[in-house]
Amino acid sequence: MIVTRFAPSPTGHLHIGGLRTALYSYLHARAKKGKFLLRIEDTDTRRNTQEALQGILEAFEWVGLEYDEPVWYQSQRLEIYQEYAKKLLDSKKAYFCYLSPDELQAMREERSGNHTELTRKYRDYTGEIPADVKPCVRIKAPLQGEISFVDGIKGKISFAASEINDFVILRNDGTPTYNFVVAIDDALSNITDLLRGDDHISNTPKQLIIYEALGFAIPRFYHIPMICNEKGQKLSKRDGALSVLEYKRAGILPEALLNFLFRLGYSDGDKEIFSLQEMLECFYPEKINSKASACNFSKLYWLNSEHIKTLDEQTLAALLNLSELHELMRDSKERASVLLCEVKTRVNTLCDFQKGIIEILYAPLASNLNQEKGAVYDESMFHKLFTAQHATTLVDSLKDFSKHLESFCGDNAQAYKTFIHDFSQRLESKIKPSLFMQSLRLALLGKKGGIDLGACIFILGNVAVQKRIESFLLYCRNV
Ligand code: GLU
Repeated sequence: MIVTRFAPSPTGHLHIGGLRTALYSYLHARAKKGKFLLRIEDTDTRRNTQEALQGILEAFEWVGLEYDEPVWYQSQRLEIYQEYAKKLLDSKKAYFCYLSPDELQAMREERSGNHTELTRKYRDYTGEIPADVKPCVRIKAPLQGEISFVDGIKGKISFAASEINDFVILRNDGTPTYNFVVAIDDALSNITDLLRGDDHISNTPKQLIIYEALGFAIPRFYHIPMICNEKGQKLSKRDGALSVLEYKRAGILPEALLNFLFRLGYSDGDKEIFSLQEMLECFYPEKINSKASACNFSKLYWLNSEHIKTLDEQTLAALLNLSELHELMRDSKERASVLLCEVKTRVNTLCDFQKGIIEILYAPLASNLNQEKGAVYDESMFHKLFTAQHATTLVDSLKDFSKHLESFCGDNAQAYKTFIHDFSQRLESKIKPSLFMQSLRLALLGKKGGIDLGACIFILGNVAVQKRIESFLLYCRNV
């Protein structure tokens, strides 16, 4: 059975690069009916925060990548790591190292970077043991040859043994080090396939040394190239938000974010839009792009608009969480459905969706001192339309339109569209139909553009429309 894991350190927000690694790990396991685990690497107590941990868990819940088994927390497993260090000491695969902080410091200063030899001072030491130094524990790394592995994405990767020193596995305060705990946890949770960012390649030989020393089975490694910006540089905040939850706040759907990240580094022909199920059906980790992928955030917004279009009305209403929308859905399914359909095709995010609905359901206002939800009448549009030449005719036409509405009842948006069209054509001798339509739009929505007017009247209902015209005429008198 394939077992994968995602192992974030709770030192900051879950980054979109991290989420992509998690997604690929999830897909690989789930596609083969395997297991996907979440492990929190929280041994660095100086850099961990509770807030970062909560953020990671919340991001996982939001995107819906379900993991198997309870989350593993490394901070709760210190005794296990200490036991394994003891095993290595007992079998002479690790040793106590009594180098003092001063010696280590001097070593660093003397030989820029290459301390491999010197750090091995206590490897097979038979001399007197310094009484005043609290020892750390170092592993015996191989002295010669190569440490290599075949990466599922990048092929064979080798390191000369001489590049790797006898690294510390337990610090002198008894706490374990990063590579030691990663290798132990991966082995104890039976990880068969390990997908992670390629910034971890340099850790792999150290982890292989631990595997070897403890007799653990070695997993398959897949090191995933980084995501970069369009200029090929490391992704930074200047390129777009990096934290997963910022996308939630920006009204991006989790399915769109996952689709976007999936395609950054993976392709299946020319296909762009993927549901999670479709990703599962075509995913093979060997096919992950071996080159860094350039991130183009405008594609994310396009994908989001496409995923929004696929949502059914109930799901959309639940996501938008607007009481006015729920009310309309209770009053009239047809009107609510027209409203959702109209707005759906015009927006890229859920935030824009919410704004689009509010702009329709709330009457425009003459001014907005109380921060109400409605738009404020576009004054420049008003002055453009209601010139000395046309103002009286437009006001009279709006009054007339309102009166005609009283005796009209359309049972769909198209009926109202035709009604508006016919009415405006009849005005032709007095005023251009397009001018009337624009003034009606200003009266109903307060601004240029937006939803089809026939749909707008159908959604709002005759009475609400008449009220909006009445308020607008009042505004016309006062402006
Ligand atoms: N905790 C590491 C990180 O957050 C990941 C370690 C791994 O995947 O092996 O980058």
